[in-house]
Amino acid sequence: MSGLRHYCGVIGINADHNVVPSLQKTLMIIQNRGQDSAGISVFDGMEIHTVKGAGLVQTALPKESLEPYKGKVGIGHVRYATTGGKGVKNAQPMTMITGSGMMAIAHNGDLTTYDKVKKKYLETGAVFQTDSDTELIINILNKYLGQNSDIILSIRATMGEIDGAYALALMVNGRLFGIRDPHGIRPLIIGKIAGGYMIASESAAIDALGGEIVRDVAPGEIVEICQDSFRSYMPKVKCHCAHCMFEWVYFARPDTIMDGREVYDVRRRIGEILAREHPADVDIVMPIPDSGRAHAIGFSNETGIPYEEGFMKNRFAERTFILPDQKERERAVSMKMNPIKSTVAGKRILIVDDSIVRGTTLKQLVGMLRKAGATEVHVRIGCPPIIAPCYYGVDMKTRDQFIANKHTVDEICHIIGADSLGYISIDGLVEAIGKSKEDLCLACVNGKYPTRIEGEEERFQSKITDGKFE
Ligand code: AMP
Repeated sequence: MSGLRHYCGVIGINADHNVVPSLQKTLMIIQNRGQDSAGISVFDGMEIHTVKGAGLVQTALPKESLEPYKGKVGIGHVRYATTGGKGVKNAQPMTMITGSGMMAIAHNGDLTTYDKVKKKYLETGAVFQTDSDTELIINILNKYLGQNSDIILSIRATMGEIDGAYALALMVNGRLFGIRDPHGIRPLIIGKIAGGYMIASESAAIDALGGEIVRDVAPGEIVEICQDSFRSYMPKVKCHCAHCMFEWVYFARPDTIMDGREVYDVRRRIGEILAREHPADVDIVMPIPDSGRAHAIGFSNETGIPYEEGFMKNRFAERTFILPDQKERERAVSMKMNPIKSTVAGKRILIVDDSIVRGTTLKQLVGMLRKAGATEVHVRIGCPPIIAPCYYGVDMKTRDQFIANKHTVDEICHIIGADSLGYISIDGLVEAIGKSKEDLCLACVNGKYPTRIEGEEERFQSKITDGKFE
């Protein structure tokens, strides 16, 4: 599998005006999907130009760097790096000059058969410059485009060779395509904007341009985004949807609507269900900002227990989750959060967070609350215990990382120093999302994977094979 993880965000716009400012703006809107690098590729009528940089969109793509480039078709990417994968070297879009012209691709997701497929290509003489699965996709596509000038057929054939999670914004010369893997693991949505159409990882990007949601790209679907319409190429076979539940729990913006379900609403419902599954006699309900906020509001609504903001989050602190060393992660949490003493002192508190991975964050936060005078600290979690790795782009890779793999809920409660601990159940989470269990990827909480992964339990497999599209 690729050493580089892609829990990222993609945008593609085709319009009757210069789309560069809109690409930059919408990448800022989906900055939550990646803060380590950003990039834009734009077709100026003759060729594709790409600008990439490290850091937040504002730093990576300052206005001055974009000014020379104008075009009506373009794609953009924000990248979320894990340990070791930071910096501009791995920034996207990735571009290639081919016999069929220029290509640029922006990828969200992880290919699960990367090593196997790459080996096959290396044996036939292909050359790779990175260990990114995006480069593999572009190489396969190039091979098929060389054999057959039909882009749709070539994309289909490429989809037949790869497996895993991919939501792609692809530009071949001036043509723009959106592609979603056969399980729709990562989100991709189509929007109509003034003078054009767009695709985006999150619908909030469409809102930012004053546009309207058209619909989600379907699992296994290819869409060609044109200025005045879009064309759809659906797989003939029924693809089993397996949308990542963690998008709703943690990753996506609360104002985004994915596959018809608004993230904020799902999180609020998670909080309500948590309150029914794990009630508590406390004085106040507090979120762990920012991601636990809607969950905590739901808990408070359901119980009538007052909601209070009791933690101040330092927005400028570094990200704790990807730091390589446990001591550093612990130190970073204390840099990031500080309790508001007047809210906390003398109170029985219930805190709600979206998830526990290693348990680092909550252990620190419970300790801080006690130090600030809380008389009781109860913890509720909006995601069932995470026990299995994600092979589809979320940075949760090895089983030994997960505290819930080694300990019971009671033991975890003891380790983090809480008075009680309750996780939402898998059924409760599914109810909150409002989709059928079959249509979700729950692999990190039940160990059942929607694609074949060596050594793991498989649920079902949707395969795109050539000729299966209409
Ligand atoms: P931990 O401290 O290891 O238990 O991690 C849980 C905290 O990290 C929660 O507050 C989550 O909001 C956040 N989190 C969970 N999964 C991820 C992820 N893949 N990347 C970054 N942060 C995460």
